[in-house]
Amino acid sequence: MIDYIIVGFGLAGLSFVEELENNNKSYKVYEDNSQQSSRVAGGLYNPVILKRFTAAWLASEQLRVAVPFYKNIEAKLGISVVHKLPVLRRFNGVEEQNLWFEACDKPILSTFLSSELIRNKNQALDIPFHYGKVNNTGRIEVEKMLTSYSDYIEKKGCLIKESFEHNNLIIDSDYIEYNGIKARNIVFSEGFGVKNNPFFNQLPLQGNKGEYLIIKSKELKLDEAVKSSIFIIPLGDDLYKVGATYNNQDKTATTTDVAKEQIERKLEQFLKVTYEIVDQVAGIRPTTKDRRPLVGTHTEYKNLHIINGLGSRGILIGPFVAQKLYNQIEKTSLLEREIDIRRF
Ligand SMILES: Cc1cc2nc3c(=O)[nH]c(=O)nc-3n(C[C@H](O)[C@H](O)[C@H](O)COP(=O)(O)OP(=O)(O)OC[C@H]3O[C@@H](n4cnc5c(N)ncnc54)[C@H](O)[C@@H]3O)c2cc1C
Repeated sequence: MIDYIIVGFGLAGLSFVEELENNNKSYKVYEDNSQQSSRVAGGLYNPVILKRFTAAWLASEQLRVAVPFYKNIEAKLGISVVHKLPVLRRFNGVEEQNLWFEACDKPILSTFLSSELIRNKNQALDIPFHYGKVNNTGRIEVEKMLTSYSDYIEKKGCLIKESFEHNNLIIDSDYIEYNGIKARNIVFSEGFGVKNNPFFNQLPLQGNKGEYLIIKSKELKLDEAVKSSIFIIPLGDDLYKVGATYNNQDKTATTTDVAKEQIERKLEQFLKVTYEIVDQVAGIRPTTKDRRPLVGTHTEYKNLHIINGLGSRGILIGPFVAQKLYNQIEKTSLLEREIDIRRF
């Protein structure tokens, strides 16, 4: 009998597995590569919603958990994936500058927003109304981290590269059994794939498709992430991730010409130099209507749990809610109602 089966190894699954590792629990992970959300993510962590200049939900608390969490993984796996990266918000006019300075005066935002107007020195970009700078921001190389962590758990014999078939799950009052593996608990962290999960697919997970272009530009020479109507995120070697789009209608995993044209149109409004598109990626963000995660235990089966609904902020929310779910299962701490699936 092992302690846990985990279904899905994106940011949610990885966050929960790290909790298990830190608490010496035994586990097996099923992963079938059917969803790409975490692997295509921009990787930014940023405590501010840059459309409205408001603080993201529980941003300070999440930053306190997430940054040391990723640094521990770096140390454990001997990799470098956590990078400080300034985020600059391009202002569209004087009105936005004023809104920014008003936001800087609010206690909840004063540590996150710099009250200095940053002037653009990069000739490749058109920034007539200057920038505002967000503090405490950075980038996680999510794909690299997931690949290294997968290798690590595969070497330990804990990774099963197969699709989990929900119909084959046997549920007993004290354990669950799947293909001959008995475990005390099972945690589903399937992202948008939860739509195929008969135990949890009644939860209101919506899904929002996002696409990025990866561009190469020798002339851009940008060291910060710039946010206008889209982000430009430097990846190194003259490569940049540009986007992302938001589409709540199309739930397919493939890249589209519509998204490509939309991103290019927005980019050309403020990029003045030439570039080459080297790749395009797409994934479905596991979003919810109330913008809060879906965490907790099945109402009927006490061994079945879920960690999902990380939306467009999985990097900060993942480690934070994984810790809460673990404490609920193992230490019977109560989950806050706003994240608990029982709110539905
Ligand atoms: C374009 C884009 C840009 C983004 N940028 C950012 C960003 O900059 N910062 C940020 O914080 N967040 C960002 N996000 C959001 C973030 O990526 C998500 O919140 C996060 O990926 C959700 O992680 P997850 O593990 O819940 O889902 P997923 O990453 O979808 O992981 C679920 C995993 O479960 C597996 N799976 C599903 N069903 C099964 C099954 N039956 N059997 C076996 N395996 C299964 C899938 O293959 C997948 O690996 C972005 C998302 C997108 C799409």
